[in-house]
Amino acid sequence: MSLEEKLTELKKWEFKKSAYELLMSTAYFDDETIAPKGGQDYRYERLALMSGEIYKISSDPKIKALLYELKDEQIDEVTRRKVKLLLKSFEDLERIPQEVYEEFTKLSLESQSAWAKAKSANDYGIFKPYLLKIIACQKKMALYRRPDSDPYETMLDDYEEGMDKKSYDAFFALIKKELSPLIKAITKKAAIKDDFIHAYYPKDKQALLMNDINKLLGFDGSWGYMGVSLHPFTSGFSNNDVRVTTSYDEYNISSAIYSIIHEVGHAFYEHQIDESFEGTILKNVSSGMHESQSRFLENYIGRKKSFIKNYYPKLVSLFKENLKDVSLNEFYKAINIVRPSLIRTDADELTYPIHILIRYEIEKGIFDESIDIENLDKVWNQYYKEYLGIDVTSDDVGILQDIHWSSGSFGYFPTYALGSALAAQILHYMEKEKDVETLLEKGDLKAITDYLKDKIHRYGALYDLDTLLEKSFGERFNPRYYIDYLKDKYMDLYDLKNDELM
Ligand SMILES: [Zn+2]
Repeated sequence: MSLEEKLTELKKWEFKKSAYELLMSTAYFDDETIAPKGGQDYRYERLALMSGEIYKISSDPKIKALLYELKDEQIDEVTRRKVKLLLKSFEDLERIPQEVYEEFTKLSLESQSAWAKAKSANDYGIFKPYLLKIIACQKKMALYRRPDSDPYETMLDDYEEGMDKKSYDAFFALIKKELSPLIKAITKKAAIKDDFIHAYYPKDKQALLMNDINKLLGFDGSWGYMGVSLHPFTSGFSNNDVRVTTSYDEYNISSAIYSIIHEVGHAFYEHQIDESFEGTILKNVSSGMHESQSRFLENYIGRKKSFIKNYYPKLVSLFKENLKDVSLNEFYKAINIVRPSLIRTDADELTYPIHILIRYEIEKGIFDESIDIENLDKVWNQYYKEYLGIDVTSDDVGILQDIHWSSGSFGYFPTYALGSALAAQILHYMEKEKDVETLLEKGDLKAITDYLKDKIHRYGALYDLDTLLEKSFGERFNPRYYIDYLKDKYMDLYDLKNDELM
């Protein structure tokens, strides 16, 4: 086969695989949003068959042989990266014995359902035996894949290529050292008033505001769609078909506003990846990079006073009874309030990385066997007391709050904090080139999303994190910007002086 023929073969295979994946994501979005629950069993049985088909396509030995041949050919940068990423996924699948993989798939389903039961019964005991089994199974699979590597390192690399314990240790040590005193100092200050955020905000009126916010952000119907689901998420079917969901809390107006801005941040990434990467593995952006874009819009843009100014008059006109006496400045302070709490997904911007630090330390301890896995719930509670000064009152708001571990997703959490830190670094460089405040005052979000396209989005998964940062900004990942950003913002917001940080 000539090189040209090989490339045509690869394209045909990518097209076929992406066709199956398109149908799966459509069905999944439908299931999470509008499909009646009664039809779930029927759907899931058919979807299981479909994932079997995708598995067969993904592990096609003819394509694997083709990739090995392409590896030794003179190919362009884009094809080389594709071949590298595809070979990695083929080899990962192959190194795990079929029966171990099947055991994991079955265990993971059982474990997720045990987690859901345990959470609603508020009883860690129901989930514990499954969690221990899933830890053992993940460890085994990581060792099949990289026999000479520490299993947790393998898992960290899965979610963010190139990130390892050494880099995360340095990152989280900085968070602990610099942010803990700041959080302590803030808890001693007078509380910011935010009771109006928790007044009654009916859903249908909230939805009217969301349309305005989407318009402001440039998330429009020609390429985007917004639905409603229990937990907000984004699904990128293709560049010009990106779906997001939101969920409404009628007693917390900030919840839907900031979850939609977050998801639209993810959506722009999917929308703005180079069109020639459509339907290929180069659309599979790593978790940390993806999260940097959602958090960039949500926190670094969306929570600025200059941004809020754009939607606040409409919000007040919709909810006069709650907000007629609340100034823009009071509202701005209230949606940036710092309050150590038990639930990660409800955490403010400043205490959020502490929730992740706790999970990182526990995961590390599980896999280097330095913590007692028989008592993970107690370890969890101790960490919350030590790092955030709060008592965990029950398992459902403690170790059972997140779904991640039930499906064996260890190494995922750290990418959330990494995403926030990356966003701070990106803002630093954006501000060197653009007057962000003036753009926001004018409501010119396009200048901002265009910049993100140019520096980040269009590259998709073409580079790993450090290579991309170096290419776009001339500097590798540097968590210092994140720490400086948080310190500047919150010392100002809480009117703190340096000597109060002792
Ligand atoms: Zn996200």
